[in-house]
Amino acid sequence: MPDCPRCHQPVEAQAIACPYCRTPLKAHGHPGMPLHQATGDEPLCLSCTYHADDTCTFPKRPNAFDCTLYDNVNQPRTITPGYPSSFRLKVWLKRHIGWIALVGLLLLSLTLALLR
Ligand code: SF4
Ligand SMILES: [Zn+2]
Repeated sequence: MPDCPRCHQPVEAQAIACPYCRTPLKAHGHPGMPLHQATGDEPLCLSCTYHADDTCTFPKRPNAFDCTLYDNVNQPRTITPGYPSSFRLKVWLKRHIGWIALVGLLLLSLTLALLR
């Protein structure tokens, strides 16, 4: 079982985050991803983002000549667009609807009590 590069606790090889310190981990990747292969005699890890930022727990590191999760540190990253803020607000409201209703009820009863 590999160790977390940050807190050095043992973590599952497939873990996407350390269960102890919550460090995001890049390990084996997911099924269906392309397998990157080294073209020269230098391991992929030497030019990999996840070796550079020390988040990889793949046991082959730092000598992987093939890897599903290789990300070239020298190439600009594609930025995944996030959800628009209106969508995030909707999700937040949906998640906290119970608390919002409770606070609303409390405010209403407080207002009614003060009006008496
Ligand atoms: S290329 Fe090396 S450092 Fe990069 S994800 Fe694969 S094993 Fe980890
Ligand atoms: Zn950790």
